[in-house]
Amino acid sequence: MHAVRAPHAFDGTRFLPGGATVLVDGDHISGVEPFGYDVPHDCPVTSYDGTLLPGLFDNHVHLVADGAVGSLERAPSLTDDDLDRAIEQSLRQQATAGVTTVRDLGDTRYRTLGFRDRQDRGAPRILAAGPPITVPGGHCHFLGGAVSGADEARRAVVERRERGVDVVKVMASGGMVTAGTDVLGVQFSPDELTAVVGAAHALGLRVLAHAHSLAGIRHALDAGVDGIEHFTGLTADGIRVPDDVLERVASADVVLDLTLGFDRLALASMPGPPPQVQQAMERAGMDFESAYTARLAVASRVRERGIRVVAGADSGVGPLKQHGSVVPAVVDLAGSPTSPGHSGPGSPPISSPSPGTWPRTCRACAHPKPSGFVVSP
Ligand SMILES: [Zn+2]
Repeated sequence: MHAVRAPHAFDGTRFLPGGATVLVDGDHISGVEPFGYDVPHDCPVTSYDGTLLPGLFDNHVHLVADGAVGSLERAPSLTDDDLDRAIEQSLRQQATAGVTTVRDLGDTRYRTLGFRDRQDRGAPRILAAGPPITVPGGHCHFLGGAVSGADEARRAVVERRERGVDVVKVMASGGMVTAGTDVLGVQFSPDELTAVVGAAHALGLRVLAHAHSLAGIRHALDAGVDGIEHFTGLTADGIRVPDDVLERVASADVVLDLTLGFDRLALASMPGPPPQVQQAMERAGMDFESAYTARLAVASRVRERGIRVVAGADSGVGPLKQHGSVVPAVVDLAGSPTSPGHSGPGSPPISSPSPGTWPRTCRACAHPKPSGFVVSP
């Protein structure tokens, strides 16, 4: 047994007054005691000037991608060994940032499932979807999950069940990283999307729909999905999420993952969004900052209605979304007034970097910020 002690402790619901001493026995926490607790003589104590908290979940990651521009597109051309090295590196970065569970929503050749089954010591637990189901030439088609027609869509679900996925991911709209896809429209016919959901539910699997467009969100709700990723609400007139859509989400108990948060330091050195996103944003009269502010406003309406949410960063998908960056996703989702992205009075503009506002890892060496420490429950 060993003990970990810190002057601040958060148990997932509340801060424990005066910090805590946490007793760890093998893989399990055997006790949470007051800060000044007298530990047994043979129990070593490690003290940190930081906060103890339960392990974090990043509910939207791409372990096969390393956050470099184009790395998700390049993943299918890697050998199995190189893919596995990429996955290992991603898991290490996530663990270093205090993440103890990741949900992979898009790999290629089902490579993440081997890691899930092996559960390497010290690596985050994995839930995995395998390659997302999409249309030929559609969002992330290069990952290998494209289907045409309802029958192929059903067969794709059965294949994923046989491979042992934890959840089915389907691309209801186009996406930011796939040139030529429609970020304002839908990808599937209603029959096809309903076929995916019906087949998955018949096999006991939940379905998460990627949807940036408002049309895609409505489409996914019509098909009866269990969760919606991004939930951006893009239309030709900007970001619009009408009340009736939020009411449908609430009454169907659909779980949202808004994939908020991004590396504000990296934004300054970015060349700008891909052309199809740039065009859609210009047509709608938006820039990155106004679009993000609109997304935070959607998040606050989601909170007001008590809609169930999870935090996912879309880690690995690009330079703004490195592995280990779920903390800004949690902060923006929670709407903390200290969040640099929070659209409250007096808050700084989101493009101004605020280093040190949240725990971050050094991208070169993945060393954790020294004052933070995370205990896995
Ligand atoms: Zn993603």
